[in-house]
This record gives sequence, C-alpha cells and structure tokens, in this order.
Amino acid sequence: AAEAKVKKLTIVHTNDIHGRIKEDKYDGMGFGKLETKLKELKSENPNLILLNAGDTVHGLPIVTISRGEAMVKLMNEMSFDAMVPGNHDFNYGTDRLLELKDIAEFPILAANVVKGDGTNVFKEYVIKEVDGLKIGIFGLATEETKHKANPKYTEGIFFKDPIKTAQQMVLKLEKEEVDMIVALTHIGIDEESDPTTIDIANKVTGIDLIVDGHSHSKLDEGKLVNNTLIVQAGEYLKNVGIVDVEFTDGKITKKEAKLFTKEEAVDVKEDEKIMKLINELEEKDKPVMDAVIGEAKVKLDGEREIVRTKESNLGNLLADAMLDLTKADVAITNGGGIRTSIEAGPIKKGHVLTAFPFANYTVVIEVKGIDIINALENGLVAYPETAGAFPQVGGMTFKFDPTKNAGNKVYDLMIQGKPVDLNKTYKLATNDFMAAGGDKYEMFIGKPIVGEYEALNEMLINYIQKIGELDIKVEGRSVPQEGK
Ligand code: ATP
Ligand code: ZN
Repeated sequence: AAEAKVKKLTIVHTNDIHGRIKEDKYDGMGFGKLETKLKELKSENPNLILLNAGDTVHGLPIVTISRGEAMVKLMNEMSFDAMVPGNHDFNYGTDRLLELKDIAEFPILAANVVKGDGTNVFKEYVIKEVDGLKIGIFGLATEETKHKANPKYTEGIFFKDPIKTAQQMVLKLEKEEVDMIVALTHIGIDEESDPTTIDIANKVTGIDLIVDGHSHSKLDEGKLVNNTLIVQAGEYLKNVGIVDVEFTDGKITKKEAKLFTKEEAVDVKEDEKIMKLINELEEKDKPVMDAVIGEAKVKLDGEREIVRTKESNLGNLLADAMLDLTKADVAITNGGGIRTSIEAGPIKKGHVLTAFPFANYTVVIEVKGIDIINALENGLVAYPETAGAFPQVGGMTFKFDPTKNAGNKVYDLMIQGKPVDLNKTYKLATNDFMAAGGDKYEMFIGKPIVGEYEALNEMLINYIQKIGELDIKVEGRSVPQEGK
C-alpha cells in the first residue's frame, strides 16, 4: 500500500492587542519578540499562517496618533495573513477602517458586516494555499460594535447573525473544496456575548478551528466543542497562540493548541528590523508625548474597576473640564471612556492621550430633568458589576439605591445645588459617543444639540494647563446608599 502522506500546518494567532506593540511590564511581549518567534517557527515549519482576531489598531498613542496606520504597517511588515475587525477597530470610524483595509497587505475579513442593500463591507473569506492544502478562513465581527463603538460610526452598516452567517460560510467553503475551515472571530466566549463562539461551535458543524478574540480569554489548550477547536490568546500580546495541525492524505488527523507566553519569551531577542520601526514611531511622537502640562498632587484614578463602578477623581476632572468649556448645567461622561490612571507627579500630554484615546469631542444637548434621571439609571443598570456606561458627573450630586432595580434607583438628584425639576430643560454636556446613544444612552438620541466642541483629550489638556496643580477629590457626587 502507498505510504500515507502527512502534511503539517502551524497557525499562529493573536487577539486584543489594543495597540500594545511594545513590550511592557503590564502588557505583553511586543512585536519585536513576536517577529523573532515567528522566524523560529517558520524555520521549523514554513507552512505557517498568521492571524489576528481583532481589537488591534486602537488603544495607545503609538497607534492612535496615526489613526491606526502605524499598526497596519507593522502588521504588513510581519506578514499577517488575515484579520477580523474588532469593535475597537471601528474607533476611528468605518471610513477610516476601510482606508486602513486598503493600506493592509492582508485581507480584513467579516462575512456578517453588510450595507443596507445587503452587500458586504469587507471580504467574507480568503483561501490560503499552503503546501498544496487549501485553508478557508472566514471572518465574523461582533454585533456589540453597534453600541460599544460610537453608533455614528456604524450608521448604515449592519451585523448579521453570526450563526446563520457561519452556516453559509461553511457551505461556500465546502463548495470551494477546502481542506480546512477556520472561523476568525471577534465574538468571545463570555456569557456577555450572544451568541458566544461556543454557541457557534455547537450549532454549526464543519468548522475545524475558531480563532477568537473579544473576551480576552486565555485558553491554554483551546476548547474542543462539537469537534471544533476554539482558541484565544488572552490580551495585549501577553501570549501568542500556536495551533499545530496535521493532515494525513488531506484529512485533519491532529489539531493541538498551546500558548507561547510572555514568561517563556523572556530570553527571546527582539527582531532588529521591527524594533527600528517601533523606535522611529516613538521618536516621531516624542515631542507631543513628553510635553509637561501640569502637576497631579494625587493619583488621578482611571482603573477599570473604579471608573466603571464609582465616582473617580479623574471622572470628576473630566466632567468639570466639560462644564468649564461649555458652561452647561451638568455633565455626564461614561467611565468606559477613561482607559487608565494618571499617576501623581508631572502630567505629560502623553498621559492624557493614553487615558483618553478615543476620537471624541464634547457636545451639549438640551434635556429635561427626567431624561437626566433616566440617563443616570441607564449608567447604573449593571451596578455593582462594572459597566462602561457608569456615569461620571459634574454639576450635580445624586444617590442611588443599590438594592433596587433600574427604574427607581436614583434619588436626591441635585443640579447646581437645587433639587432637579423633572420638567425643566437643562443644558447637558457629554461626549459625542454617548450623545449618539453609545453605551445605551438612547434617551440622548435626537435631543437638540446646542454646542459641539474640540477633541475631548485636547480639551482636557487645555483645562489641566489652566489649572496647573491638580488636587482632585472624590466628593460624593454619586453615592450608593439604601433609600428610604
Ligand atoms: P475590549 O476592551 O477588548 O473591547 P470590550 O469590547 O468589552 O473589551 P471595553 O474595554 O469594555 O470593550 O470597551 C468598550 C467600552 O469602551 C464601551 O462600553 C464604552 O464605555 C467605551 N467606549 C468605546 N468607544 C468609546 C468612545 N468613542 N467614547 C467613549 N467611550 C467609549
Ligand atoms: Zn479587546
């Protein structure tokens, strides 16, 4: 009998990098080490496919200053084979993402993202030919993009049901007679996602591998569901996923997942060419990043668990800057818009750009007192769970009853020192993300916009320069307390 022919394929995957291209204590191994590891893997097996499962081009100034271009160019340099757009990849708007798609030398795949007329916004799938094998890869993006990124950015585009889309893709790829079907997804395995990739694997037969992102899950050996292997590599390049696949006479006879961790990468040397590109980027941004604009007397708290569950002094600072600029009656800004803390000491522009990476600006809308209550309650729906929607406020104080459900939580709301008048019209400053209904602040949609201002991070930089020394406190603007 003829000897069985065995072929080997290595699939390397990354997800939720959020602009962390450089090695950092709190982040991952960086692209320099990843490139060296890739070269090593390729020398062991040249049949290698490199995938990215989204939330990539946005996050830190090193990529936001160029509105994602720096990241895409590095990914070109490292020969990524495909990427699926994550919700955060829409943060510069869909038009910008489509420009980045043109700069990318790899396809950006999303089979379930369509325009009103049903036509695709991105390529549905790609077929990679490796060592005579045909590997079909299709993309699935998260529907949550609609409210987790500025809703304005996805006006006119729609996210179709991932399960139905996956079924259609499997049929299409089977017609193309591929040897392996890979779903590249920014969907996640958390219950938060509906459906999860586990649901997809259960309901759709025929997907060999799901390369996932979004839930930042570290799956050490992947997860086998209904013969579909689901893999995800945590976040920030703290791990790189490696899947070893073996084909015997064209049929998959082995698929094994592992992670190459940051700890294992300690002694890996950074690739010189990639580091040169990263250093050039840093040099270019330095004058902006290093400019000192003020002094923080205390830590300005932007920790995720704080800004998404309680009043924070950094939230207060932002809300006060909005009021100072706009002279509105009140300000509400979402905790999820604050991405990191600013430590006590000299404040640099770079700190502000890091904590506030979004391309937001301040808007003032006219609302009734009752709308303010509804908005606060929307922000507290998940309490005590963390939620990006949690309201950081200025010009007002309120209490909320943690034992009650939304709808009757907020009480003792005082605006500019006076009890709220439910029928009175107030000027409310917020960010354009929330004004467009982001984080489910749907009560703001369609309210008269009476002012639009400069970029939010620039506004904050100017305000810090004006104040100089910042000794900002948590002062009881929002107080969780059981009601009468
Ligand atoms: P990941 O960070 O991996 O995407 P996730 O999808 O759950 O995880 P979060 O980190 O929770 O995302 O980020 C989404 C949150 O970011 C939103 O809920 C919102 O609070 C905030 N956000 C997103 N875009 C904006 C924006 N333009 N302005 C203000 N806040 C924003
Ligand atoms: Zn992410």
